[in-house]
Amino acid sequence: MPNFNTHVNVAVFVYPIIVVMYEFFSKFFDYPLPHKKIIGIGFLFFWISADLPDIDHIHSLLRKVFKYFFVSIIFYFEFTRGYIIRLLNLDTLFYSFSMKAFDALLVGLLAGRLFEIITPKHRGPLHSIWSSFIYGLFVFGGYYSLFHIVKNALFLGIISTIGYILHLALDKFLYEKNGKLFLKNGR
Ligand SMILES: [Zn+2]
Repeated sequence: MPNFNTHVNVAVFVYPIIVVMYEFFSKFFDYPLPHKKIIGIGFLFFWISADLPDIDHIHSLLRKVFKYFFVSIIFYFEFTRGYIIRLLNLDTLFYSFSMKAFDALLVGLLAGRLFEIITPKHRGPLHSIWSSFIYGLFVFGGYYSLFHIVKNALFLGIISTIGYILHLALDKFLYEKNGKLFLKNGR
């Protein structure tokens, strides 16, 4: 079970190969390539996707980053819009910035706790091939709904799925011992 470094390092070197293959298939199927900028930003999508399944691991680096990213978004929206405050009719109590910050922090931390609770167990559903396709569709749909450019959305969706599958493949075929990688034999 390789760690964050291994997954990301492998992804970094695999990305150019994926781009070569994508170029090849785009000629083969006579389908346009995405914009240059999309292939550039695709690198970021690819290595994140290649470690994403491990957000179900309690010590995963990406999970911690994700969790605090999520907490920060909740903090931002609770601070600026005060959903919970309005819901509980506490506007008169939480009127100052310091009180709002206190409320936003509390709501943010509770959301972080919820994130911990709903994350499935390690090597559970997130480590399945179905998750890679759902995730790829999500990336495709997300990009498309924002920018409406199919060739770009398709590229990002496909490379994100490949990155995710790359992770599952490494988990399946390699194991790590004292910082060195070994091929799992048999099975
Ligand atoms: Zn994994």
